[in-house]
Amino acid sequence: MDFLPFFFDLKGKACLVVGGGTIATRKARLLHKAQAKIIVLAPEIEPELVQLVAASGGRHIAETYRAAHLEDMTLVISATDIEAVNRQVAADCHARKLPVNVVDNPQLCSIIMPAIVDRDPLIIGISSGGESPVLARRLRTQLESSIPAGYGELGKLASRFREQVKATFGSEDERRRFWEAVLNGEIAENVLAGNCVEAERLLQEKIANKDVAAKGEVYLVGAGPGDPDLLTFKALRLMQRAEVVLYDRLVSPQILELLRRDAERIYVGKKRDKHAFAQREINEMLLDFARQGKRTLRLKGGDPFIFGRGGEEIDLLASHDIPFQVVPGITAASGCACYAGIPLTHRDYSQSVRFITGHLKSGELNYPWREFVDDQQTLVFYMGLVGLPKICQNLIQHGKNPATPAALVERGTLPEQRVHTANLADLPEFIKDKDIHAPTLLIIGDVVSLHKKLRWFKKH
Ligand code: SAH
Repeated sequence: MDFLPFFFDLKGKACLVVGGGTIATRKARLLHKAQAKIIVLAPEIEPELVQLVAASGGRHIAETYRAAHLEDMTLVISATDIEAVNRQVAADCHARKLPVNVVDNPQLCSIIMPAIVDRDPLIIGISSGGESPVLARRLRTQLESSIPAGYGELGKLASRFREQVKATFGSEDERRRFWEAVLNGEIAENVLAGNCVEAERLLQEKIANKDVAAKGEVYLVGAGPGDPDLLTFKALRLMQRAEVVLYDRLVSPQILELLRRDAERIYVGKKRDKHAFAQREINEMLLDFARQGKRTLRLKGGDPFIFGRGGEEIDLLASHDIPFQVVPGITAASGCACYAGIPLTHRDYSQSVRFITGHLKSGELNYPWREFVDDQQTLVFYMGLVGLPKICQNLIQHGKNPATPAALVERGTLPEQRVHTANLADLPEFIKDKDIHAPTLLIIGDVVSLHKKLRWFKKH
């Protein structure tokens, strides 16, 4: 290790920035965040730097550098574009054992600045020891996207209650269990969702009850149509937190790869008409696991509230006061349409879109067909493969133009995606010998004609 990371308390300390350009300003911004007093040494300085200097209670010295300027400084940053000045500043600082950072020149530095992920009071510094700042920044970007913005608030909440918790729970083990339960459960989730008042109430209640046990909860999460890149940050976060996972047939293996390694996985998928588990059984399993104190994930294809029976699954939890949250996912219609280059609405072709289930409880296709035949709308049938000939036939019988373009999107957004297009009258015959694999989505409307031009995902 060439550099040992430290976190430096610079509050109210005089820090010298030599140079007044863009890079000096960028460094000064960080010093200002750390509440340092910024002294800038440069003939001229940028307007933002003027403001930072004033706001920090520092000063601007419009002189050329002399070693005397180092007097009383806690830290020095040299950010001029004159190599000789940078070298002199570094040499003078080294002689005085004064921490110095020379921008873009690790050899001259006794301290280097990391790439920073800021969730104050949580701060992550990433360094490549000056060897590859681009790599360090790349890692920062990855962390930025995986650490929820609300982590800072979580840190502040923990800090506000730290003393009280210490006074309430005598042993270190109890305190650790208490904070683990808080940070892994409902209280943290409330903070991350912006409900700090509720989080604080729950935390106070937990302290008052001297309760260190983890409380079970259920996450009803939409996993999107298949491509793992279409997961939301929140879905991924909860997937990596859950201890038990109940998942469907529609959740792709690529997505299951992203679950926590040690999570218990239970397949509760249903094939059409062959129920692996009755809906009631799934609902009860969710309730049982949550009651055992487990963080339980119910992972569903697409969006849980679009033909996903999500409402039924949380109904039982709600009546038993089990904490739960629902995370939307990209529904098959959005995913398939985008990946097939079919805009669901378009100013020239379609002003509305309907999501329709092609699989009714009763087995009958009892629809308001007359409403469906109006032009200028897009129809999307979920679970429509078996009923496809009937759907096309009924639409035509009720007055839809048989030449209306239609697409059957097979395994949308996955590498095996195929898009079959024909007009409404021909589609049933057209797909007959195509060896179609579930899941499929049927899109009907003039917008389908754009597919040939706008398709971008694979060539078919
Ligand atoms: N909640 C899901 C829909 C569940 S119903 C959502 O919001 O997407 C199941 C139907 O969704 C399937 O029969 C199929 O019509 C459609 N579907 C889901 N994923 C799909 C995919 N990757 N490609 C095509 N259709 C898909």
